[in-house]
Amino acid sequence: MENKIEKLADIIKNSKHLIFFTGAGVSTESGLKSFRGKDGLYSSLYKGKYRPEEVLSSDFFCSHRKIFLEYVEDDQLKNGIKPNKGHLVLAELKNGYIKSCNKINIDDLHQMAGNKNVLELHGSLKRWYCLSCGKTSDRNFSCDCGGIVRPDVTLYGENLNQDVVNEAIYQIEQADTLIVAGTSLTVYHCKWYYIKI
Ligand SMILES: [Zn+2]
Repeated sequence: MENKIEKLADIIKNSKHLIFFTGAGVSTESGLKSFRGKDGLYSSLYKGKYRPEEVLSSDFFCSHRKIFLEYVEDDQLKNGIKPNKGHLVLAELKNGYIKSCNKINIDDLHQMAGNKNVLELHGSLKRWYCLSCGKTSDRNFSCDCGGIVRPDVTLYGENLNQDVVNEAIYQIEQADTLIVAGTSLTVYHCKWYYIKI
């Protein structure tokens, strides 16, 4: 084991363009559930009735907004969640080693740990906006204009932000080391990335 850790440390030290690609699995030690992992969000039905993939879709957001918001609050926006050692180490490595951290998890823990160069491929639950007037907030709010408010995350059935995708592709193409952590890479956007690499 020690040998493997030393080997990894050497790879990191000798990298000129190191990229991390992280999923929800890096946040399980902080108390958030992963999506596809053992005991992950996708291992049981929400309220015994809805598949989580169904709840986190744009169609469901339109047709069952109350349940969608309840689900997001229950499972992803817990109070007191803090970055764990994994996030903190990445923030430390950032000083000289990591060029960027491309994340597909929708929590904000990398940024809370002090990591600034984070590409949010699936957006963040720390940004909410009104679909009518565009007003934004860092949490769910009721807009004065009466418009519908939603989190700035990519739901099933929606496209990723193309600017973020382009930057992520650029960073990955420059990379001499890519470390993937906390994701099974089975989410459909990532399969595409996998082939691209
Ligand atoms: Zn509004």
